[in-house]
Amino acid sequence: MDLPIDEQSGRRRRGLLIVLSSPSGAGKSTISRLLLEADPQITMSVSATTRPKRPGERNDVDYHFVDDAEFDAMIAAGDFVEWAYVFGYRYGTPKAPVKAALRDGRDILFDIDWQGARQLEPDFGEHLVTIFLLPPSMEELERRLHARGTDSQDVIAERMLRAADEIDHWAEYQYVMVNRDMDECLKRVRAIVVAERSKRVRQTDLHPFVRDLIGPQH
Ligand code: 5GP
Repeated sequence: MDLPIDEQSGRRRRGLLIVLSSPSGAGKSTISRLLLEADPQITMSVSATTRPKRPGERNDVDYHFVDDAEFDAMIAAGDFVEWAYVFGYRYGTPKAPVKAALRDGRDILFDIDWQGARQLEPDFGEHLVTIFLLPPSMEELERRLHARGTDSQDVIAERMLRAADEIDHWAEYQYVMVNRDMDECLKRVRAIVVAERSKRVRQTDLHPFVRDLIGPQH
């Protein structure tokens, strides 16, 4: 296993599975993008979905856009670590890239909802870092959904209904923040990542290091 070198200790460590959830429009995609740009050790998990592609979205970059039959086949083949219905469409996290990232010692970021976060918990336990972004207000959330300009009025109304359901699960997350200011939020998410990387359970390579420091007689 080729684990990444921790920038602080200079030793190898276990990769993290970082889940970032929020209702649509709370700034999750922007934070994800900025986090990936700022931190080359993190890779994004690309989900499969049966939802139609929005203008500007790219297949296999934003999502693997598949039809119902393909999604059924992926479920049957056991290709997902988790999958769920969101807004009447199915979304799922493919297993192979997650296994590859952990094998190569990379951190992996998931933009998935609370149903997905719940399903990952039993498999990845202490290696899962869950973060929930709250909008500053429901009015601001609606304003951001309109500003995005990609969804029709009906879709926005449905997303606002769903937002309350999603927010209702905030207490299932380890970290929670209100996204009043994008830069401040990004700073916090990065601080969480740094702190999580420093946890003893992650620093599997410290045992031989400390043995060398104090000698085998201790
Ligand atoms: P959108 O259609 O706006 O891209 O995403 C809708 C919702 O589906 C978002 O809350 C997003 O986090 C969630 N989502 C995207 N991919 C997955 C996935 O693979 N699994 C689960 N459980 N939720 C997902």
